[in-house]
Amino acid sequence: MVGNREQNIRRIIEMEDRICQCQRCPSLVKCLRKPSMGKGELDPEALLIFEYENSYTRDINNIIRLRNIIKQELKLDKIYHTFMVRCQPKACATRQSVTCYGEGKWIDKDYTCLLSNKTCDGIPVKPGNSEIISCLSFLLEEIEILHPTYLLLFGERVTEFVLKSYGIYSNLATNQRYEYEHMTFITAVDENEFQPDNCRQLLNIL
Ligand code: SF4
Repeated sequence: MVGNREQNIRRIIEMEDRICQCQRCPSLVKCLRKPSMGKGELDPEALLIFEYENSYTRDINNIIRLRNIIKQELKLDKIYHTFMVRCQPKACATRQSVTCYGEGKWIDKDYTCLLSNKTCDGIPVKPGNSEIISCLSFLLEEIEILHPTYLLLFGERVTEFVLKSYGIYSNLATNQRYEYEHMTFITAVDENEFQPDNCRQLLNIL
């Protein structure tokens, strides 16, 4: 519905403004140029949820590949993808030596670290549980706005945190479906392992 889509755009933009201002994880935002935002059809049939923006999901060709598999095998056309944690954590010895965060970022627009005056060499790492818990409210808000029919949860941590947020605690496993208020949650392997065969397995449970 056009009205739905326009309303969703407005609400998503408003939420993204809040994500850009968010300082709940000070150690993450200091070394980040821009948080990871959802992208795709704003009145979606399917919402793909990744744990965080890693080297795999940062490559648009991989996202296109995943979308094409889902379109082809599950016959779902309107797809949106998003992330459970918006700020990419990095392991960095320089940053670990600093105890006071102060004002402003520690990285400039060319990715030069203002602490070392060298190009940022932080190594991307998985988010911790506390960062997931801090950020989860944005994902739940995004789900509430978009209210897709199908939600594909990629990987065990996305499965666990998202389903538990909806009160689903038991029998959590990959390649299963779970229902909540006219939404069907489907659990899948990690995005980088997801192949047409995996998708066909999901077809059997839909
Ligand atoms: S990871 Fe999420 S909760 Fe933490 S600072 Fe970024 S937007 Fe805020």
